[in-house]
Amino acid sequence: MKRKILMIYTGGTIGMMKKYGSDTLIPFDFNNIFDQIPEINLIDVEIEFFKFKKPIDSSDIDTSDWVELGTVIAENYSDYDGFVVLHGTDTMSYTASMLSFMLQGLQKPVIFTGSQLPIGELRTDAKENLITSLYYASLYQNHRAVITEVCLYFEFKLFRANRTTKFSAEHFDAFISPNYPILGEAGVNLGVFPEYLHKNQQEFNLEPMLDNRVDIFTFFPGKRKDLLDSAVSNPDLKGLILRTFGSGNIPSDDETLWIMRKAKDLGKELVVITQCMRGKVNFGKYQNSLIFREVGVINGQDMTVEAALAKLMWLLGKGLLHAELKQEFEKNMSGELTSK
Ligand code: ASP
Repeated sequence: MKRKILMIYTGGTIGMMKKYGSDTLIPFDFNNIFDQIPEINLIDVEIEFFKFKKPIDSSDIDTSDWVELGTVIAENYSDYDGFVVLHGTDTMSYTASMLSFMLQGLQKPVIFTGSQLPIGELRTDAKENLITSLYYASLYQNHRAVITEVCLYFEFKLFRANRTTKFSAEHFDAFISPNYPILGEAGVNLGVFPEYLHKNQQEFNLEPMLDNRVDIFTFFPGKRKDLLDSAVSNPDLKGLILRTFGSGNIPSDDETLWIMRKAKDLGKELVVITQCMRGKVNFGKYQNSLIFREVGVINGQDMTVEAALAKLMWLLGKGLLHAELKQEFEKNMSGELTSK
């Protein structure tokens, strides 16, 4: 049986070309993709396209694009067996993380991919990424999709999307998944590691509401306290992600502690993650994280900054606050964190 795949093109290097007379890359008309990669015709799948009205560099992606993408997938969900999303690599982990929350109860694969070199370049990585993504998106066994979550495929590796982060601006191997094993590897065979795949119990449902009154604050030695104070005092801010040192540590001076208490009194939602690539937050391991026990913040555990940000926007969008928000945030919903 021929599987039907919807390929959604949002923009990114994969569909860019050099602007005439310059070295700058701009998006090109994607309609001639079959001319660029005639090999696609050899894959035993039926492919249809959906193109964003104006393909963009992913640095221009906004919350409205996430909602549009989620809506396109939801509206076409029953007509297709799988989805491949072509997206710029710069913010791919943000978009794919967000989609992993918006698309609740997925029973079909959604595979994000892109490339480091444009599709028309001789040494492009676009062909392999695109073709193998199509294979993963059409992988079924006993009439059931093997992959039932949002993934990111890049340079022979299949990742859980909400565990990834862009790691290299130059190498073909552009993404890593620092706290979760890869879900598959494409060698001579198309490898999938079933023990790591996410399974959904509930029915598919699009939950597209978002609240972007959030921000990220990065601590570093020498950071001015007034900048932390103005971040938490901003009346438009609902939730703040704190990128802390090591296992969740911050400076222990009176002013910093006072600002943390103030943030809590103002009703701000604080999510603590670590600046370390690997490992997780552990309150109380050092004295410098005890303030978080005292004020009762959300423990972001081993989440990437991209996943934490997406989850915060999404849960705030559902209208959750305070204890209820904390309880939901700390739960593993789409495989984005390692449960205690
Ligand atoms: N600037 C491009 C983008 O993210 C980079 C890429 O696609 O790799 O859209």
